[in-house]
Amino acid sequence: MATSGVYRNGSNKAPNLRASSSFKSKLPVSNVRRSIPGGATDTVSGRVRVAVRLRPRNAEEMAADADFADCVELQPELKRLKLRKNNWDSDTYEFDEVLTEYSSQKRVYEVVAKPVVESVLDGYNGTVMAYGQTGTGKTYTLGRLGDEDTSARGIMVRSMEDILANISLETDSVSVSYLQIYMETIQDLLNPANDNIPIVEDQRTGDVSLPGATVVEIRDQQTFIELLRLGENHRVAANTKLNTESSRSHAILMVHMKRSVLGGEDEFSTENENRSHSVGNFKPSILRKGKLVVVDLAGSERVHKSGSEGHMLEEAKSINLSLSALGKCINALAENSAHVPIRDSKLTRLLKDSFGGTSRTSLVVTIGPSPRHRAETASTILFGQRAMKVENMLKIKEEFDYKSLSKRLEIELDKLIADNERQQKVYENEVERIRLEAQKRVTEAERNCAEALEEEKVKCQMDYMESIKKLEEKWSVNQHKCVANGEVHMDSGNDEVTKLKALLQNEICLRKAAEEENKNLKLQLVKFSKAELSGGSTNVMNIQEILEEECRQNKKLEEEVRALKSQLSQLSTEANLSRSYLERGRNGNTPAGLDCLSPLNHLQSRDSSNGERASIVNLHEQVGLQKILSLLESEDANVRIHAVKVVANLAAEEANQEKIVEAGGLTSLLMLLRSYEDETIRRIAAGAIANLAMNEANQELIMAQGGICLLAMTASDAEDPQTLRMVAGALANLCGNDKLQMRLRSEGGIKALLGMVRCRHPDVLSQVARGIANFAKCESRASSQVLGTKHGRSLLIEDGALPWIVQNANNEASLIRRHVELALCHLAQHEVNAKDMISGGALWELVRISRDCSREDIKALARRTLTSSSTFVAEMRRLRIEV
Ligand code: ADP
Ligand code: MG
Repeated sequence: MATSGVYRNGSNKAPNLRASSSFKSKLPVSNVRRSIPGGATDTVSGRVRVAVRLRPRNAEEMAADADFADCVELQPELKRLKLRKNNWDSDTYEFDEVLTEYSSQKRVYEVVAKPVVESVLDGYNGTVMAYGQTGTGKTYTLGRLGDEDTSARGIMVRSMEDILANISLETDSVSVSYLQIYMETIQDLLNPANDNIPIVEDQRTGDVSLPGATVVEIRDQQTFIELLRLGENHRVAANTKLNTESSRSHAILMVHMKRSVLGGEDEFSTENENRSHSVGNFKPSILRKGKLVVVDLAGSERVHKSGSEGHMLEEAKSINLSLSALGKCINALAENSAHVPIRDSKLTRLLKDSFGGTSRTSLVVTIGPSPRHRAETASTILFGQRAMKVENMLKIKEEFDYKSLSKRLEIELDKLIADNERQQKVYENEVERIRLEAQKRVTEAERNCAEALEEEKVKCQMDYMESIKKLEEKWSVNQHKCVANGEVHMDSGNDEVTKLKALLQNEICLRKAAEEENKNLKLQLVKFSKAELSGGSTNVMNIQEILEEECRQNKKLEEEVRALKSQLSQLSTEANLSRSYLERGRNGNTPAGLDCLSPLNHLQSRDSSNGERASIVNLHEQVGLQKILSLLESEDANVRIHAVKVVANLAAEEANQEKIVEAGGLTSLLMLLRSYEDETIRRIAAGAIANLAMNEANQELIMAQGGICLLAMTASDAEDPQTLRMVAGALANLCGNDKLQMRLRSEGGIKALLGMVRCRHPDVLSQVARGIANFAKCESRASSQVLGTKHGRSLLIEDGALPWIVQNANNEASLIRRHVELALCHLAQHEVNAKDMISGGALWELVRISRDCSREDIKALARRTLTSSSTFVAEMRRLRIEV
């Protein structure tokens, strides 16, 4: 496109030429007037552009004109040509372009034809024409095929190249006709038989067409070149004297362009843009119909100079008829004459649009350098000068392409119908799928729901059955417990009674035997006396002694029988008591004293019957304490058990305690703790010791006799909760003795006490808690004395009691809880324990006690304790606890 600037930039220097718009390849939009539809009406003025081309000297001229200077001198930079008149004078002419003998074919194309071709591509008509004397290079300029040398390709070939490069073969079409006018007949160069083609003019539009001409659609350059070659072969080429190769016919190449531009699109957008014809766009596309006419005129030489004769002369006349008609038309146009004799020749009729019409026209006038043809050269130059004055009104040829739009719409409609049908089907399928899916889900949900309901129902039933079962079990366990308790007690009572009965029976038998023997002896004595009366007296003496001994024995036995009887009655009473006690329990009366602070409540409750007490007192009185104590060492286990029970009962009475201890009962009881083989003996002995340990003097005695060790030993290996309870009770009593603190601890009393928590029986735990509370109380007393005997941490803490204390501070058994709460308060009163208590979590328990304890006194004590300890106060402040 750069070379098109030659026209654009070149100023029109010819004084006789109008300063018109430059020959632009693209017309300024503002210049375009249009009214679509209804055919092409947008017009823009466009003067015929004229270039002059000088042929180089040929061989002949080189030889013939060697001594003569050329008749023309070119000033291409000034776009001027000087035509020599004589040696000292010349005329100067300005052209739109001056092409020297050195101008390349490419340059000539770009300067002369390319702007026209571009206009044609934009929908205008265009004409490129060569005018000149035969042999000056018209055919060279326009029609060279460039077979041997591509750089020699002429305007026709290059125009088609440009066109094909700029159209879309899908939407646009190019077709050509190739004709010649020879002796005023129009011949089809593509079909020589078609040798008289009429010119048809559209009355309405005035458009000229040659409907008889062969029209060949061009889709590639090669086809086009073959067509040109074919046409060239057909072209009548009559030799003349001037140039044997030049033709005397006018050759006319017509290129018809049909270009489709989408409606609303910028018509002036570049041609190589991909213009999509999407079916979605229903604006009718705009059809642009450009026509390019390339005219290779026959020679313009005068007839008289041609030397033709006969037919040739006629021919020359015909040629010149068309040419002179063309000259006349151009003159008329140049001078704006009212009459332009277009109809005078076929050529002017065919070129109606090219001069004075709507076409963009470019003329190249060819001249030779030879001074011998100066006159022809001058006439050619004048022709060119006149042609430059011809003003055309360029008009775009476009119309709405309703046909293709309707075709497109039809295709689109069919496509939409098909699409719609497909979519309908897809939609129906989708609806069906969703319906099935929904149905499936509903079914599934229903099933799940039913299953869940069923499951829930079964679960509820199971739960219900389970609860019923549990309640029944509970009920039956309770029932069993009541019955079993009663029976066990009764069984043990009955056992004892049976044993005693057997014992008594045995004694009775023994007595009977003794009486029998006594009777026998008496009889023997009578016999003997009779014999002695007749014999000696020593034997009588002996027998008397034996008899007396027997009497003593008898008495003793009788005493024992009495004692046993009394015991039997006591046991019977006991059994009755147990029975009635159980009966009471079963009737809903809780046995009294179970939650009593006393460690011996069980024994005491058993001993609380006056009748029973009386029987024991009786027994005691009857048998004698010493005797009972001696029975503790009896080899008969039954006797030992019985004896220890008696002693335990006696020990429950404070009045007896001193006597028991004096008689060595304590020692015996302690010894019994060693008898592992019988748990009952240990349990009862421990109970007795516990009772004795209530007395302060006895406590010291127990300690002195190594009782702590024995109790600790029992504590560690006994398993019966009742035994442990008794041992714990004994130790708890000892814990309350201020004087024994250190020894109790050093002999392992505290450890033994704590060890018993392994048995989780509440009775045992309660005694342990009581012991701890007692010990803590003594410690706090010791530390609060003015000359405090207690220094350093609590021995309870030392022996690791704190975790258990903290753990049980809120024990659900109120008795345990009370003791532990008291223990905590006592421990807290000694500042030295505070740190351990805080780290052991005891502070929280104390705070809880100070807030929630149901016993006001303990609650107050806890509060008092907390507020009086600086360590606790500081910690509470840190933890933002308020008491
Ligand atoms: P015309 O068609 O005007 O009668 P041609 O095109 O047949 O003339 O040219 C006559 C001769 O001159 C041919 O042999 C051609 O090759 C030669 N010729 C014409 N123009 C040029 C040119 N510009 N350069 C070289 N040779 C040329
Ligand atoms: Mg020619």
